[in-house]
Amino acid sequence: MSKKPYRVLLYYMFVTIENPEEFAKEHLKFCKDLDLRGRILVAKEGINGTLSGTVEQTEKYMALMHADERFKDMVFKIDEAEDHAFKKMYVRKRKSIITLENEDEVNPNDIVGEYLKPREFYEMLQRDDVIVVDGRNDYEYEIGHFRGAVKPDVKNFKQFPEWIEENLSKHKDKKILTYCTGGIRCEKLTGVLLNKGFKDVYHLEGGIVTYSKDPEVQGKLFDGKCYVFDERISVKINQTEEDKVISKCSHCGKPCDRYINCTNDDCHDQHLCCEECEEKYEGFCSQNCKDYIILHPERDARVRIKAKLEMYEKYKQNPRKADYFRKLG
Ligand SMILES: [Zn+2]
Ligand SMILES: [Zn+2]
Repeated sequence: MSKKPYRVLLYYMFVTIENPEEFAKEHLKFCKDLDLRGRILVAKEGINGTLSGTVEQTEKYMALMHADERFKDMVFKIDEAEDHAFKKMYVRKRKSIITLENEDEVNPNDIVGEYLKPREFYEMLQRDDVIVVDGRNDYEYEIGHFRGAVKPDVKNFKQFPEWIEENLSKHKDKKILTYCTGGIRCEKLTGVLLNKGFKDVYHLEGGIVTYSKDPEVQGKLFDGKCYVFDERISVKINQTEEDKVISKCSHCGKPCDRYINCTNDDCHDQHLCCEECEEKYEGFCSQNCKDYIILHPERDARVRIKAKLEMYEKYKQNPRKADYFRKLG
């Protein structure tokens, strides 16, 4: 069925995990034995993970998880991939699997907005009496979002309750529609909204990635790409002819949806940069960072050249950069 040899799995579940510390330890061994790579967070409230592995390895993982009574209803979002999307395997115990400030903690099993299937979400998106709120960070919004969505001015999820207070309070009578990458952030975000007195709160079940794969909507009304927290950096969502680039290169302003990290390791700023400008500015986000490296040559990311080269070749997303680094190396 699958055309590519690898897969990336994305999943979460709010279910009580007694003794999450011990669970995390055992689960790490379990994943390593299967040769999987990725990042999993475990807390008393549940599990939140993203993994990469071969088709066979990921099949095994899903089957074994589904055999566990606690996770028998787990929904896995599956992307095909050419290779692993992670370098290592981590399983970490946390206080929560998606974190808000303590006073804002909500349990989706107690309070949560109304779930919408892709088709219902698509229809709701086009109504006039709805405020669409992107439940992700500003840099994720930047390279792609649903048409007409409000950009949240937040750098991380914890800042949402305050942002809602300051920006949405006067719209408590309106319908609020939220979405995020895989759905987990909305599970808590909609609870926060309801707790703050919003009455009509909806969210996209399974998030943007599920919406993209829905045979009927096919990612329609999503402009740009979806940011992902693995080596792929972003993935295509809109499967129709509507698909387009909406962000701009931070140097020259040309349409561009490539994020790179600044060559100065002490800056490491993730910025939008086209291939031409990356070569021209050597991957530095600014002249300041370029000057900084003259004084601190040991902080030049190009000393990590080999690992980078491997990554670029692996994903073939950036042959020019690979060539460029090959020349230097
Ligand atoms: Zn440029
Ligand atoms: Zn920089």
